[in-house]
Parts: sequence; structure tokens; C-alpha cells
Amino acid sequence: MARSFVKEARKRVGPKRLRIRPIIERLAAAHPDATIALRSRSDLELLVAVMLSAQTTDVNVNRVTEKLFQKYHRPEDYLAVPQEELERDIFATGFFRQKAKSLRGTMKMLIEEYDGRVPRQLEELVRLPGVARKTANVVAAELGTPQGVVVDTHVRRLSQRLGLTRQEDPVKIERDLIRLVPREDWGRFPHLLIWHGRRVCIARMPLCHECAVNDLCPSSRV
Ligand code: SF4
Repeated sequence: MARSFVKEARKRVGPKRLRIRPIIERLAAAHPDATIALRSRSDLELLVAVMLSAQTTDVNVNRVTEKLFQKYHRPEDYLAVPQEELERDIFATGFFRQKAKSLRGTMKMLIEEYDGRVPRQLEELVRLPGVARKTANVVAAELGTPQGVVVDTHVRRLSQRLGLTRQEDPVKIERDLIRLVPREDWGRFPHLLIWHGRRVCIARMPLCHECAVNDLCPSSRV
């Protein structure tokens, strides 16, 4: 019964290849302010903010980086203080020991191999200590060279609800989205889903009656 209901719903909204563009356009119109919530003023600050954002909220990271970025400007600055001092400075973002270690390892590699600059290629970014694929994807996209689609908890939930993937694993979800989402939208697409997920398609209580894509969504309750 449940399965035939899902099948019916998928049939009603049509194939995802035909829905993806209107979904992107409508979400872009509904959330014109959908950009990264982490604050940064340079490539280096962006990289640090994204690294600190693991397992915590963007609001929390912004609170910490407001002071941090007044003190640390160049990669060398992160190595010029004892590790314990850096740990104290990023303490409120959680997992501060591991994050301080990753930051220092990353700064060392930036200085030794990249002339102190943040690389733009995904394969270079993932070489930096403590920089996982998701972090690298976010940084590359923000630097204007998206090479994948960022999959966080909102992107995962909304992609599933919108019938864009049947996968559970973020790597497989990303593979589906890369095939489906036009390349020029790889950067903005995750932001659109993240903001729609925060404001409308909320995890426990999706507001389907207010949703700009409810006629394109097989999970719509309207
Ligand atoms: S119709 Fe409902 S389930 Fe589908 S995307 Fe909109 S809020 Fe989410």
C-alpha cells in the first residue's frame, strides 16, 4: 500500500530530469539570500571557518571567528602560538584539540607547498590535514570553482523528499546530484536546499502548504 502510494506520487510529479530546473529556479526565487552563513573576508578565513564548522552551528563558528580573525591573519600566525593557545581560541566550536591539530597541519602545508595560499582544486584541498571531501567541496564552491555538490543533513533530507535520490550514503547522494543538477548550479544548489530545509522543509514538520515546489515534490502533503 505504502509503496504504491510512493509510486503514484512519483508518477504524479514526473521524472526528476524534467523537474530539476523548475525546482532550482523556484527555490532561487523563494530564497534570494541563500548563501553561505559562515563569515569570512579572505580565502584563508573561509577555509578556517569551514574547518571549524564540523559538528557545530554556523552561528557558533561566526561567534568564535569574529575574535579569532582579529588575531590570526596569515598561515604563519597559527603556527606562531603554542597549540594550547590555539585550542583555547577555538574551544567553543567543540572538538577543539583535533581542530587545532588540523588547522596547524593545514597551515604548515599551505606554507610549504602552496606559497601560503589556499588551493582551488578539490584534489589539492582534500590533501590538507583534517580537510574532508565535504569541507573541500564547500571551499571550492565558495572560491568559484565547484567540483562537486555539497551534501549535508539538509541536502540529504530534501534530495530524498524531492525524489532526486533514493540513496542514504552522502557520497552516493552526491553522485546522483552531480548527474542531475546542471554544472553551473553545483555551487548554489546546496545553499538553496539548506535554506529551504531550515525555513520550509523542516525535518520534523515540513510546511508543504507554504512550499514553492509542492507540485513538483512526491512527498508533498498538500
Ligand atoms: S512539498 Fe513538503 S516535503 Fe516536499 S519539499 Fe516542500 S516542504 Fe518538503
